[in-house]
Amino acid sequence: MPVYYVRYKQKKHRRRKRVFFLLFALACVGLSFALAFGFGKGPAAKLLSRPATAGHALPLLTIDRQEQLLININIPVDENDSWRVKDNKLELTLVHKDAIAAFPAEEQYLDQQICFRREQNKVVLIIELDNLPPIFRLSTTAFGYAIQWSEAGLAGKRIAIDPGHGGHDPGAEGHYLGLYEKNVTLAIALELQAMLEKAGVEVFMTRSTDTLVDTTLKPGRHIRPDLWKRHDLVNDYSPDLFLSIHNNSWSDKYARGIETYHNPNSLNSFPSKRAAQLIQNELVAELQRYSRGIKPKNDAVLQVKAPAVLAEILFISNKEEEAMLAEPDFAKSAAAALFKGIAAFFQDPRGE
Ligand SMILES: [Zn+2]
Repeated sequence: MPVYYVRYKQKKHRRRKRVFFLLFALACVGLSFALAFGFGKGPAAKLLSRPATAGHALPLLTIDRQEQLLININIPVDENDSWRVKDNKLELTLVHKDAIAAFPAEEQYLDQQICFRREQNKVVLIIELDNLPPIFRLSTTAFGYAIQWSEAGLAGKRIAIDPGHGGHDPGAEGHYLGLYEKNVTLAIALELQAMLEKAGVEVFMTRSTDTLVDTTLKPGRHIRPDLWKRHDLVNDYSPDLFLSIHNNSWSDKYARGIETYHNPNSLNSFPSKRAAQLIQNELVAELQRYSRGIKPKNDAVLQVKAPAVLAEILFISNKEEEAMLAEPDFAKSAAAALFKGIAAFFQDPRGE
């Protein structure tokens, strides 16, 4: 009969866990990560309940306070799960039937700041955010969720940058100067990469040269599979923030301005919208162009499992804006604006 329990990992057990980790990594790469969390024998381990659900070899929940708080929840992810921050509490709502079956009906505190409560067809995990660093990252794992806290600021963060288009996909083309979107997006992305790395960020680029990301694709119907390739690479990297850079284009040659997209239907809709707003504000302030605002979009790249933003920086189809995009210093100023927006996000990702 499976059990679930909370474990507080202790530093002195590190070596033993490392040995376990290595053994199991050899035995089964796919399971090694979760097993490493399951085999620590913290003295404060606390048995909470013994629900009769099938198939749980892992603890349902582990709490690790070794350096920063890390919580692993080994309940299958359901597309209707959601989370929000209310009254300085993080509420993660799980609706998978395993969650309903596994957690007891009465509200329970797992420690002073973590509790769960079962409502009719859902389980709500509530974490009080007082005394925790301002940044947390909710991501999915092979077994459920991980929530990890880290300090404010850019240093040590992981950011993925996606310069739109590339190779035999030029993106939109300017009518007046013949500018290619793929070149503008790459120039901005390379400037931004340098600025972020200087600030101690680890940067992942979906491309750094004039090529499609999926280099096996032949010219022609390639754009969608290439977008999914970008999506998969970014998911593998698992960044703290993902930014895709594009330029806009429209048949109306007077269309102009800046807009930034976010996905309201993703697990990370909340921080994505916040990041989109901050980046939009900085782009408008820096480039002094009309703001079209932030908008929802459900693009392949915006479906990544991370806070995600797609910035459309000026209209390449607009004469005046194409001329701006062609200026030698443009990439630097656009990158500076993106940098400021990203820095503001990591200073205060919740905007409270
Ligand atoms: Zn584009």
